[in-house]
Amino acid sequence: MSKAITLQCFAKINLFLEIVGLRPDRFHEVVMVLQSIDLADTVQITTHREIAIRCDHTQVPTNEENIAYQAAQVMQKALGRKDGALIEIGKKIPVAAGLAGGSANAAAVLVGLNLLWDAGLTVRELEKLAQALGSDVPFCVDGGTSLAVGRGEILSPLLSFKGIPLVLAKTQNLGISTAWAYKTYREQYGEAKPVHASNLPILLSGLVHHDLARITKHLYNDLERVVLPEHPAVAYLKQRMSEAGASGVMMSGSGPSVFGLCANENQARSVLSKISQEDQEQFLCHTSDAGVVVCS
Ligand code: ATP
Repeated sequence: MSKAITLQCFAKINLFLEIVGLRPDRFHEVVMVLQSIDLADTVQITTHREIAIRCDHTQVPTNEENIAYQAAQVMQKALGRKDGALIEIGKKIPVAAGLAGGSANAAAVLVGLNLLWDAGLTVRELEKLAQALGSDVPFCVDGGTSLAVGRGEILSPLLSFKGIPLVLAKTQNLGISTAWAYKTYREQYGEAKPVHASNLPILLSGLVHHDLARITKHLYNDLERVVLPEHPAVAYLKQRMSEAGASGVMMSGSGPSVFGLCANENQARSVLSKISQEDQEQFLCHTSDAGVVVCS
């Protein structure tokens, strides 16, 4: 008899992203503050002869290129299993948007197969397996608020910063490849590191004290330096969100998503109504402390 499990996996935003060097393996050394938000995909996993993917979003591959497929392969290998899983993904998280949607799906497969196959791996063991799949996948397993260094896979959990309203928006039909953003950054800045306007200690102290004014003043993302000149629509969206009254506005990851942290629900609703337009996806969300949640 087949067994099934349904999970929700949450998107992330970057409150902070600074590139601090290039590693010998050609990945960038980064310092990030990652934050889960309550915008989630649904992943249903059913026991199956082989690995198979179904997805309701046309831009998402359903073969080995899907990172959720690769996550199932990683679990097969780690646990020495030959059977597979049917993985059905319901997309709410915009694709190629700097929100780690694919990484979240992969994290859901790690958590889901661990339960479905009664493997008993701990969260730390799943995060370790997640490292092989991508820099954001370890964070997506447990979610919440974390300082991430290395390629982004070395995590230090921070105090919960749950429940802050935010408006999230992206221009429709605009996707940005993370690989392109980092490559362009490397080409433009190379070894000569630009002078940074970032101040991580103040952001971290803001997070410890839940001081939204301090946090919003010190949001930071190095990748804006390459994405904004290439995609004026992202710069324009940032400007509109600031003018609409969001307390702190920043691009997430390699974009094109832009988020605006708000002081309260009313402010968030007002920002959302002022920036809404047809050629744009927009959401009212909240910061969350969940990575992957089992629904049934
Ligand atoms: P990150 O912030 O982790 O770099 P992202 O949010 O910018 O990721 P994704 O939504 O993960 O980007 O998608 C990046 C690309 O990966 C897409 O263009 C898509 O073709 C491919 N992809 C593979 N698997 C998935 C998946 N499960 N969901 C979404 N995209 C996927």
